[in-house]
Amino acid sequence: MSKKLQPADNIQDLQYFGEFGGVNPSITDSSTYTFLQAGKMEEIFEHEIEGCYLYSRHWNPMNKYLSQALAQLEGTESASVTGSGMAAITNVILQLCNAGDEVVSSRTIYGGTYAFFKNFLPKFNITTNFVDTTNMELVKKAITPNTKIIYCETMSNPMLEISNIAALSKLAKEHNCKLVVDNTFSPMIFSPAEMGANIVVHSMTKFINGMSDCVAGCICGTKEFIDSLSDVNNGASMLLGPVLDSFRSAGILKNLRTLHIRMKQHSANALHIASKLDKNGFKITYPGLANHPQHELMKTMYNEEFGFGGLFVIDMKTKERANILMEEMQNNNVGYLAVSLGSYKTLFSAPGGSTSSEIPEEERKQIGLTEGLVRVSIGLDNNAERTYQVIKQCLDKVS
Ligand code: PLP
Repeated sequence: MSKKLQPADNIQDLQYFGEFGGVNPSITDSSTYTFLQAGKMEEIFEHEIEGCYLYSRHWNPMNKYLSQALAQLEGTESASVTGSGMAAITNVILQLCNAGDEVVSSRTIYGGTYAFFKNFLPKFNITTNFVDTTNMELVKKAITPNTKIIYCETMSNPMLEISNIAALSKLAKEHNCKLVVDNTFSPMIFSPAEMGANIVVHSMTKFINGMSDCVAGCICGTKEFIDSLSDVNNGASMLLGPVLDSFRSAGILKNLRTLHIRMKQHSANALHIASKLDKNGFKITYPGLANHPQHELMKTMYNEEFGFGGLFVIDMKTKERANILMEEMQNNNVGYLAVSLGSYKTLFSAPGGSTSSEIPEEERKQIGLTEGLVRVSIGLDNNAERTYQVIKQCLDKVS
């Protein structure tokens, strides 16, 4: 597939002037907006009017600017922003599904999303079939006439499986359902909408913002779908109210301007360290290594200049060894023993007992998500060799 989308150039080309000619757009510090004619207020309750604002839960100017930039990132007609990644995911699912509908979801997804599908949605009589979405035959078998959504992560949390978006999109079209893709682990690296995804979501808490200083999310899709989310009568975002504060929105928009540079550095660092640890005989999962099950697939899908991503997983075999490694790495200032990822500083955690603990033990075993796994999100370190040497020393201490 020819790659036409140039997300970094598209974001660079955005030109926004602030109120007094500022080089950043001005932040609107208001929850509500005045109308000069009463009739206009009635009109905006019926449909959105370009450049006209009603109330900040509905839309506010800074969230519009950030959303436009995110649509450029993902190559979609439109986008909207939310107060968290989970808000983005839950709003999309609740907007698309009615009682009696079904979701076919990848079995290796973020634990919070898994818990939402498995434990929360059945309250509304929406059920989920969890399958290995790297196997198209299994996905096909799981689809029923009630299936509304196929859901996956482009690069999954925490197993770093790569989903074949073009193949899943073909299946979704054949069965008249929507393909919803979480691209949190791989902004810029993958352009899921270009490969056929209908809706792309992100936890902007991670790479997009990149500073570990706020929680936020976004939804990218067609204008019709994004508009439907803010419909005053039926829109999930309008009615559930996960609005992102405009001060946070302004910060994220500025950080988005450096995302392309950061993604290249995260990927280069992770590739350097993962390759060396792999050569040393440690059990490493990283999509940039030839032994990764979807390495070849990824090479046919990715925007090459942004690399294979900033995360790798080390299998320490037992929880005890994983814990010793993480404490050693924190004590030697490799980074922080903390959940989350995509930060300027390296973050690591053992997903089996934390961010994936919502997935039942039996299912974790099936997907190879064992207690000894340590997920490492490499930071923007200037000297990856130096970081590798410290990690290697920490690993040697555990042995
Ligand atoms: N999607 C993925 C892949 C994640 O890793 C996370 C959080 O870790 C989320 C969604 C949820 O995002 P947030 O914490 O911003 O609600």
